[in-house]
Amino acid sequence: MQKKEYKLTILGCGGSIGVPSIERGWENCNPNNPKNYRTRTSAYLEISKEGKEDFHILFDVSPDFRTQALRENIKHVDNILFTHAHADHVFGIDEIRSINRIMQKSIKAYGVQATNDTIKTIFNYVFTPRPKPYNPEATVDDIFFRPQIELKDIEYYNDFILDSGHIIHPTKQIHGRIETTGFIIDNKFAYATDFVSLPQETIEKYKNLDLIVVSAFTTKNHSSHMKLENILELLEYIKPKQAILTHMGATMDYDTLINTLPKNIIPAYDGLKITIG
Ligand SMILES: [Zn+2]
Ligand SMILES: [Zn+2]
Repeated sequence: MQKKEYKLTILGCGGSIGVPSIERGWENCNPNNPKNYRTRTSAYLEISKEGKEDFHILFDVSPDFRTQALRENIKHVDNILFTHAHADHVFGIDEIRSINRIMQKSIKAYGVQATNDTIKTIFNYVFTPRPKPYNPEATVDDIFFRPQIELKDIEYYNDFILDSGHIIHPTKQIHGRIETTGFIIDNKFAYATDFVSLPQETIEKYKNLDLIVVSAFTTKNHSSHMKLENILELLEYIKPKQAILTHMGATMDYDTLINTLPKNIIPAYDGLKITIG
């Protein structure tokens, strides 16, 4: 069996309004620490075999995707996995045009039906039948004048296999009024953002992974996000080798966290890279 390597880049680790935010500024976060400057939550996973670059997965497309892609030099996305259709997770979809043009193809994306239906409503122009290019000798720019995304419906707890052969297990999470999807990749790594509680079945699936990226929005009670104290209890129970906190609001100061959390739990910062074998 070929050895796979998973390299995760945190594109953004901020809550829906980012840090600093227009309304709350820096709150508890030290403005002098650049690690507290957080764009909206998204991540990019590169999976390679035997050191050869292989496959690229984008988790959500945040409103800051353009800035994030420029910063990380992202030019290739094989698949997008959508956790849910809140604005902070999908409002960068128009920027996918640029990736389509570079790759000269459409991109397959996966979400549960409720997520996909909302994305199709918000981005009606993307998912209505495409008019023919004006020019019969169309250039790549003409062909991809809208993002081209093939949305595929998935179901909670039903494995699906990407074209590359990677096995994805989607889990159900409760996020206030709506549900969100967590993703477990090849039974090693989970991306679990935006939840206030988890069904027991999901908690059991998250046990003993090599790495989990988990949202920890706030230290305070919140109607749609589990507070830090309860996230730490959850991590104590599921025992990942390593956990990365993401989707952090302005109550979550980087230095305070890094100095107080157990060593295997680290707060993310934009641009953080972590590799698991
Ligand atoms: Zn969010
Ligand atoms: Zn959300």
